[in-house]
Amino acid sequence: MELKDKKILVVGLAKTGVAVARFLAQAGALVTVTDMREEEALSDVLAELSGLDITYELGRHVPYSFLMADLIVVSPGVPMDIKPLEMARSQKRRVVSEVELASWFIKAPMVAITGTNGKTTTTTLTGEVFKACGFETFVGGNIGNPLIELVESGQQVERVVVELSSFQLEGVESFRPDVAVLLNITEDHLDRYHSFQEYIDAKLRIFENQTSDDFAVLNIDDPLVAACASKLKAQLFPMSREHELEEGISYRDGFITFSHKGKVLRFGTEGFKLKGVHNLDNIMASLAATLLMRCDGDCAYQAVKNFKGLPHRMELVEEIDGVAYYEDSKGTNVGSVVKSLESFESGITLIAGGKDKGGSYEPLTPLVESRVSHLVLIGEAKARMNEALGALTDTHLAETLEEAVEIARRLTKPGGVVLFSPACSSFDMFKNYEERAERFKAAVRAGKKGEA
Ligand code: ADP
Repeated sequence: MELKDKKILVVGLAKTGVAVARFLAQAGALVTVTDMREEEALSDVLAELSGLDITYELGRHVPYSFLMADLIVVSPGVPMDIKPLEMARSQKRRVVSEVELASWFIKAPMVAITGTNGKTTTTTLTGEVFKACGFETFVGGNIGNPLIELVESGQQVERVVVELSSFQLEGVESFRPDVAVLLNITEDHLDRYHSFQEYIDAKLRIFENQTSDDFAVLNIDDPLVAACASKLKAQLFPMSREHELEEGISYRDGFITFSHKGKVLRFGTEGFKLKGVHNLDNIMASLAATLLMRCDGDCAYQAVKNFKGLPHRMELVEEIDGVAYYEDSKGTNVGSVVKSLESFESGITLIAGGKDKGGSYEPLTPLVESRVSHLVLIGEAKARMNEALGALTDTHLAETLEEAVEIARRLTKPGGVVLFSPACSSFDMFKNYEERAERFKAAVRAGKKGEA
């Protein structure tokens, strides 16, 4: 699409919206930016756009601007079903996400990664593998830099790895990755979707425009993911820890086997720094994507072996008096906490709670019963969580994270584990999950000083 002199409305002015507005204005489009927040709340972002010819509609959405736009670009933070967007769509206005817009200008082969959990780990690792194998690579999307920044920079890369949330996928139209990865689907974001099915449908849009030249990497151990195999237009490349595969990537007894068109590569997993079965999935997905896109097996293997993982995902903070304290502040939904609990056999004191996302805590039941010795609940969700899980183990309610850590410290015996894996988002008590993580670490370390 030619952008010059087109009337384009950018909805939502956070990091992505700013990048989109800047790119469009520089490309000669007639840009209007709208955000429900008032000007005073946006002074920092507005400063980034100073000097550009942009019209602002702040503190409100003006229906007329939605109806007059040739194109509407929606930031990932803005729900696609807000009234003005629904109205615009009903009047045949074109409404897309930033990823869709960016994809119109990107020629380099692309891997797109989605799933409820493991996206950031898999995206980062996939980027690391490509780089280690000598490919100039851009990594972004839902993590780090928005994809549009690659377009804006004019940088010529050889591979693109993009992490996609369900929100970004809702606004795709022609977006077509060479390799699309779906890691898993469990309940999340039910506060923003009307139903679980709607969330699943959004995730599946990653495959919508693929053709038989492309690959879809599916974790077939996940029944909801496996169910979509029959709808694919791309070549299916399955991954599994449960089945051996003639075509695909699988894990058994300490070895990952990659089989594609008669070529077979085997990789021993001993010495991998990434721990946990869920990380085996992430590693298999990264290996599948990169090996399908011409990475050398030895190079890829070396990069996987060197990868240490990311902060806030099952990070060991300290061992104090024989108790290991793990920070998993990024465990923001039930599915991820299941995996974190599975990483320890028993003796867990679990600190959980935060802003409730409207899903069920039921999937945690067997693990809480069998492995969690003490449960300490915080935040808005504590009453609902207590109702679902409280009777299964020794449960305590705390007003603050610091109080929760103190209770956990008092209760956990040497050899045990204190795991902070909230199953909720952080916005009830903290700015974001990073701040929540720092507060947990500080509380743990304060306990250490107290002991000394
Ligand atoms: P995302 O970007 O999808 O939120 P992350 O890589 O940031 O995923 O990991 C978030 C949390 O999800 C981690 O703390 C971990 O407990 C859990 N997790 C990571 N990978 C997986 C996976 N493949 N399956 C299930 N849970 C996972």
